[in-house]
Amino acid sequence: MKNIQEPEISIVVPFYNEEENIEELYKRLTETLKKLKKSYELIFVDDGSSDKTYQILCELHKKDKHVNIVKLKKNFGQTAALAAGFDHAEGKIIISMDGDLQHDPADIPKLLDKMEEGYDIVSGWRKKRVDNLIFRRIPSLVANRIMRFLSGVKIHDFGTTFKAYKKEVIKNIHLYGELHRFIPALASRMGVRITEVPIKNIVRQRGKSKYGLSRVRRVLFDLLTVKFIISFIDRPLQFFGLIGLGFGSVGFIIALILTIGFYFFNLSIRENLGNLLFSIFLMILGIQFIMTGLLAEIISRVYFATHKTKIYFVEETKFHRNKEKFS
Ligand code: UDP
Ligand code: MG
Repeated sequence: MKNIQEPEISIVVPFYNEEENIEELYKRLTETLKKLKKSYELIFVDDGSSDKTYQILCELHKKDKHVNIVKLKKNFGQTAALAAGFDHAEGKIIISMDGDLQHDPADIPKLLDKMEEGYDIVSGWRKKRVDNLIFRRIPSLVANRIMRFLSGVKIHDFGTTFKAYKKEVIKNIHLYGELHRFIPALASRMGVRITEVPIKNIVRQRGKSKYGLSRVRRVLFDLLTVKFIISFIDRPLQFFGLIGLGFGSVGFIIALILTIGFYFFNLSIRENLGNLLFSIFLMILGIQFIMTGLLAEIISRVYFATHKTKIYFVEETKFHRNKEKFS
């Protein structure tokens, strides 16, 4: 793989049934990128579309050497599609965006300017939201608040995929579930420098959104997962052990009081049977938690060892690499 020439910029876009949007997006991307006078590649991921998405992508691939395609075997979801794109991207800076024209390619130079200031991640911030208030903006506001609090990353908009990353950063993030929304939070474990720039939030003109209200539930559980990952994945015993220690010590103290009472103060165990059972219950619970923590320690070792497991399967790729230079 040595002879691969790495372009300055990779643009990663997942498409799931976006036939009406691809050509326009491609046109606007090319317009913007040509002006930058930097080498670039486009990594278009077809996430198992059933419409003409793939055919249109192939036509673009034929006529433009910047266009590369990763076609997935079936619809794996946005996170997996992004992961596939990131894995195949070679640019020094990797930018992800949606393929439905809700992200304006004209915002790319803004992201790049910030990257030049030395940041590892520059996140798009939909400052003026045009999305539905009840179904999108309010849940998103709450989720962003929680995420900001949990991760300590001081940005406003975790949810948008329009972000720029240094290659080393994005290549070290293991995406699964629906975690693409939380890449900056996951990256915060690596001590990276993150900032944001305002981007346009455009109403979807063509095609349909691929999500309904289920997004709220998914995000909710992802928040929990993310918290666990950022704080405890590499030391789960700290988490489970603390809970176990809490329960166990309360149980132990009650048992101790009962024992001292029995031997020195004539306390009747018969009358305190409930308390005795309760203390035994707490102590066993405590031990259970500590054991779970130890098991989780082992599992997390396995997790890190199998870091390379893929969450998508590629059917076919079409790349221009190795044939012609990037320009
Ligand atoms: N997408 C995808 N696979 C999916 C769902 C969505 O690749 O299973 C792509 C979709 O084609 C679009 C981007 O992810 O380019 C964002 O999806 P969408 O516009 O439906 O999400 P929303 O804007 O409603 O958050
Ligand atoms: Mg959209």
